[in-house]
Amino acid sequence: MTEAFRAHCPRCDGERVCVIRGEFDQPWSVDDGRNHMEGEIDHKLVQCAGCETVFYYKISWDDQNWDGEYHPVTGESIITYPRKIETYPSPEKKSQKPDWVWSIGRIDPQLYTILSEVYQAYEIESFILASVGLRTALDRTTEFLNIDPGHSLERKVKELLDNGFIGETEAATLAIVADAGNAAAHRGWAPDRETFKTLITTLEHFIYRVVVTGTEALKLTESIPARQPRPKKQPMQPT
Ligand SMILES: [Zn+2]
Repeated sequence: MTEAFRAHCPRCDGERVCVIRGEFDQPWSVDDGRNHMEGEIDHKLVQCAGCETVFYYKISWDDQNWDGEYHPVTGESIITYPRKIETYPSPEKKSQKPDWVWSIGRIDPQLYTILSEVYQAYEIESFILASVGLRTALDRTTEFLNIDPGHSLERKVKELLDNGFIGETEAATLAIVADAGNAAAHRGWAPDRETFKTLITTLEHFIYRVVVTGTEALKLTESIPARQPRPKKQPMQPT
């Protein structure tokens, strides 16, 4: 049995057994008549056997980068070429991104992309960009819920309320998310870390409920068999 392939999973952020979904080895050499250089790049598309995330794994070496040693007994020189390993995405810094955000990639890839950029901006404290991103994420979520994209975002929040997706309190806080994004985009307003945290938490609760658990609940109703009508009782026969 061949040994399982292990790689550092960017999502689990640890070494995991991975399934190789595709691979391609690319040796290369350059020769100008006087100098010769060579090396190899091995590309792999791998999937973590734990969390199922698919990522790119690259291992490379070249003959300009080498280590020399002497064999302790024979004294022969041994040349080794250290391997450089890179993955894409690279293992993230401790992310603010909640784990459920990954599952949005399968439900609405566009919303996933927006949210990923929001967390990137949040992590480097670009609060203006992150606030504009929150507004964009809110807007995309309303589109996901089939709210008319022609309305202003403020009107869309009102529609969410009228359609029963949110209550009065949540409508008020989401209106603040919309307004903050607007102020950031047009007036360069930047919330501080605490204020931003409040805004993103509000939006996270909303998205988690209507997109993640909302679709989970729909799947659940699909898998529950419909109620069968009860057979009619036979009328009692007079004895
Ligand atoms: Zn993993």
